[in-house]
Amino acid sequence: MNYPFEVKDLPYTYNALAPYLCEEILKFHHDKHYVTYVNKLNEILKNYKNLQNMTLDELLIQTEEIPNEIKTAIKNNAGGVYNHELYFACMNSADSELPTDKLALAINSSFGSIDNFKAELTAAAVNQFGSGYAWLILSNGKLEIISTPNQDTPISLTVNPLLCIDVWEHAYYLQYQNRRPDYVDNWFNLINWSYVGARYMSLVKEQA
Ligand code: MN
Repeated sequence: MNYPFEVKDLPYTYNALAPYLCEEILKFHHDKHYVTYVNKLNEILKNYKNLQNMTLDELLIQTEEIPNEIKTAIKNNAGGVYNHELYFACMNSADSELPTDKLALAINSSFGSIDNFKAELTAAAVNQFGSGYAWLILSNGKLEIISTPNQDTPISLTVNPLLCIDVWEHAYYLQYQNRRPDYVDNWFNLINWSYVGARYMSLVKEQA
């Protein structure tokens, strides 16, 4: 997929993630915040014909091909599209599903247990200063947890994001106000582990 980038619909209804995330948050988050990133990215690329056949991943990885005057704008807006699409895809309404199969084994061997994984991802999400994301990534075959500011992405030739949580205030403020830890805690009930597991398996196969 390349220019013009299209808005992806949510893979569930606006009220599907209640009570953990209310309908109003998802409406604003998807229809306003995410859609604005898609529109701005297309707006920037409109005048750069040579960048119009690049995929989202290529725009974020092959930054040497991007002219200096739009480097920051591409990073912020292509990042905003990439990060939100992953964030929305990583949630669903299934109750308290858990990771299974090879991903469950990898989480246990990397973090010791699912509970430790949860504690580490929670710390990364809660301690990210200001706006940003916390991530589960696959880096050189190893699972790791990191956080990034603003719309930065961990995507590169060697780092593959598996899962992310948006900790910008717009992701939780309407329901949780300043209580980011409560939002993070409830978000664990929403993780679409089937999707994250499939993502992990396809990367492991690619790298084998
Ligand atoms: Mn967001």
